Amino acid sequence: MTTLYEVHGTVAVITLNNPPVNGLGYATRVSITDHLQKANSDAAIKSIVITGAGTAFSGGADIKEFGSPKALAEPNLLSVILAIENSAKPVVAAVHSVCMGGGLELALGCHYRIAAPGCSVALPEVKLGLVPGAGGTQRLPRALGVEPALNMIVSGEPVKSELLAQIPGQNLFNKMAAAAQSLVAESLAYAQSIADTRPLPLVRNLPCKHKNGDAYFQFARNMVGGMSKGYPAPLKCVDAVEAATKRKFDDGMAYERELFINLMWSPEGRALRHIFMAERAASKIPDVPSDTPKRDIQSIAVIGAGTMGGGISMNFLNAGIPVKMLEMKQDALDRGIATIRKNYEAQVKKGKLKQEKYEERMSLLSTTLSYDDLKDADMVIEAVFEEMGVKEKVFKELDRVMKPGAILASNTSTLDMNKIAAFTKRPQDVIGTHFFSPANIMKLLEVVRGEKTGKDVLATVMALGKKIKKTSVVSGVCDGFIGNRMIEQYGRQGGFLLDEGCTPAQVDKAIEKFGFAMGPFRMGDLAGNDIGFAIRKRRYVEKPDMKYSKTADLLCEKGRFGQKTGAGWYDYVPGKRDAIPNAEVISMIEAHRKSLGITPRKISDEEIVQRLVYSLVNEAAHILEEGIASKASDIDMVYLMGYGFPIYRGGPMNYANEVGLFNVVQAMNRFAQNPLDDAKFWQPAPLLARLVAEGKTFS
Ligand code: NAD
Repeated sequence: MTTLYEVHGTVAVITLNNPPVNGLGYATRVSITDHLQKANSDAAIKSIVITGAGTAFSGGADIKEFGSPKALAEPNLLSVILAIENSAKPVVAAVHSVCMGGGLELALGCHYRIAAPGCSVALPEVKLGLVPGAGGTQRLPRALGVEPALNMIVSGEPVKSELLAQIPGQNLFNKMAAAAQSLVAESLAYAQSIADTRPLPLVRNLPCKHKNGDAYFQFARNMVGGMSKGYPAPLKCVDAVEAATKRKFDDGMAYERELFINLMWSPEGRALRHIFMAERAASKIPDVPSDTPKRDIQSIAVIGAGTMGGGISMNFLNAGIPVKMLEMKQDALDRGIATIRKNYEAQVKKGKLKQEKYEERMSLLSTTLSYDDLKDADMVIEAVFEEMGVKEKVFKELDRVMKPGAILASNTSTLDMNKIAAFTKRPQDVIGTHFFSPANIMKLLEVVRGEKTGKDVLATVMALGKKIKKTSVVSGVCDGFIGNRMIEQYGRQGGFLLDEGCTPAQVDKAIEKFGFAMGPFRMGDLAGNDIGFAIRKRRYVEKPDMKYSKTADLLCEKGRFGQKTGAGWYDYVPGKRDAIPNAEVISMIEAHRKSLGITPRKISDEEIVQRLVYSLVNEAAHILEEGIASKASDIDMVYLMGYGFPIYRGGPMNYANEVGLFNVVQAMNRFAQNPLDDAKFWQPAPLLARLVAEGKTFS
C-alpha cells in the first residue's frame, strides 16, 4: 500500500508510504483520495492528519512516472488537492524531513499545517525547467508572503521549516512541533483541538498583495533575467507569482497551468529533465547490478603530488577519507602540500571553509617517499607523468606492495588502460579514474573500465565517485576515452574554420553565444596548447591519413602555449584571464591561409556552431556503436559536467535529438562537400545513419 490508514480516537491518520521519498505517483494519489473519502464517511472521525512514513513527508512527483501518461492520470495532483480542500472534516498536514514540490503543494491544500523542525521545504520545479504546476505559485505567496515565496520558487532551494516559521505574518505553518519524534502525537492533539472549527481555513482565501507591486516585480524581473540567460522558467516563475497578486485565485491557477504546460514542451525544460534522468542513469551499468558487492574503501594512496595528484587528494580529504601521497623526492611532496594548503586557505579566506575543518582535512593527509608505506591503503590512484614507461614502473611497484584486494587506479588521460593493467598480476583490480582539472572542482569523473576490470571494482569506484560528489560516467578503453576523443574532432573543426576564413575570436564568440562556457581557442589557452601539439605529433605518425590544420602547430612553434606562457591564441595580462586578440596571431593565420592558396570566405555563426557541435555528435555515435559508452545520455553527462556544454541544451546527443538526426545528417553531407574540410570524417557514423533511416533518436 502506498498510503496507510489508521484511526487514533476521533482522528484518521493517512500516512504516505511510497519509499524512498513518498513520491506522489498514481497509486499514491488514488489511495490518498480513497482514504480521504473513508474518513469523511466515518461518523466517528472528526479530523484527519496526513503525514509521511520514513525519511520524508513527500519529495513531490514520482520520478518513476516522469514523462509518462501516468503522471497526469486522474486523480492528478490538482484533483487530490481539490479533494482535500473540499473535505468536510479538517485536514492537517504533519510535515517533516523533506516537503518538496508536489509534497509542499499538497500540504498547502490542507486546512492546517504543523511542521517538525529541520524539515527541508522547497518548490524545486524551476531546476527542471518548470514552474510549480499544482498551485505552488498561487498558494505559497498567500501562505508565506510574496517576497519569501518568490525567492523560494525562483531559486528552487530548500529552506528549513523553523526559519520559515519565523517569517512575520506567515500562514504556512500553524504550529511547529517541538521535535520530529513528537510530530505525530502533537499533530493528533492539534487535529482534535481544531476538529470543530468552521469555516475551514483555505490558503486560497488568504489575501495576496505586495505593497510596491509593479516596482517590486520589475526589480525581480531584472534580477532574475540577468541571472538566468537561456533559461525561460525563472522569469515565468516571476510572472506566475505576480499573477497571484493580481488575479483571482482560480484565474491565477489557470495561468500557472498554462505556463507549466508551455514550459513542459520547451526545449530547455526537456533538456533539464533529460539531465535529471541522465544523472541517475549514469550510475546504472547494464551488466553490473546495483547489488554487486563493493569493496571497503577507508583509505587512499595517491602517487604523484603534481597538478592532478593534489586536486585528487583534496576530494578524499573533503570526504573525510585519509590520503597518503607518494613522490620521488621530498621537494615535490613539499610543493604538492603547499598547493593543497594554498587552495584550502583561499577557501577559508572567502569564508567557504571553517578553519577547524581545514585543519581537520590536513590532519588526514600524510606523505611518503617509499612504496612500502602504501601497503595498508585500500585503493591507490596514480597521477604521474603521462608516459607508458613511467606508468609501467609505478604499476609494477604497486603490484609488489599493495595488499590483496586493493584497487589500483590510474588517472591517465590517453594511455591504454588494458596495457597498464597488464603490468600487474591482478588486472581485475585495475581501473581508470580520469579526473578533470582542477580535480577538486570539476564534477566529472570518467571511470575507465578495462577488459579485465572486476565488476565489484567498477561498482566500488562508482560508489566512491558518489561519495566524493562526482558525476561518474563509465567509459570503455580507447584513445581519449569519451570526452577527449570527441574533443579532438571538435578541435580539428576549429582549425579548419581558421584556415577557411575565421578568426579565433569569431569561432569562440559563435559557440559561446550558443551557450558553451568557453570556445575552443580560449579553452586551448586555458588547458595549454602544448597538450594538443603533443597529441597531433603522435597522430601524424599513427594516422598519417588524418587531415589537420597546421595553424595550431605554428602557434606552438612560437611558444604560445596559452595562459601559462601569457600568450596563446590570445594575449593575457598577468593575474587576469581576459583573452585579448593578438594581431601577430591573426597575421600568422592569414599568412598560412595564403600559403595554402585559400581565399578566405565569410562563415556564418550558424555554420561554425553546426560544424563544431555535429563533429562531437558524429564521433559520439561511433563511441556508442563501439560500446565505449553504454548510453547516449552518458555522453551528454560527460559534456555537460566536464566540457562546459550548455546545460539548457542537455548535452550534444540531446541537442542532436532536438534538432532532428535527419537534419544533423543533412548538414554533415553538406560539410562533406567542402574541399577544405574532411569529407571522410563527415561520413555519418553507421549508428547515426541507421537511426535516421529508422526515424529514431539517440534516446
Ligand atoms: P604533473 O607533471 O603536474 O605531475 C606529475 C607528478 O608525478 C610530478 O609531481 C612528478 O614528480 C610525479 N612523478 C613522476 N614520476 C613519478 C614516479 N615514478 N613516482 C612518483 N611520482 C612521480 O602532471 P599532471 O598534470 O598532474 O598529470 C598527471 C596525470 O594525470 C597524467 O597521467 C595526465 O595525463 C593525467 N591528467 C592530467 C590532466 C591535466 O589537466 N593536467 C587532466 C586529466 C588527467
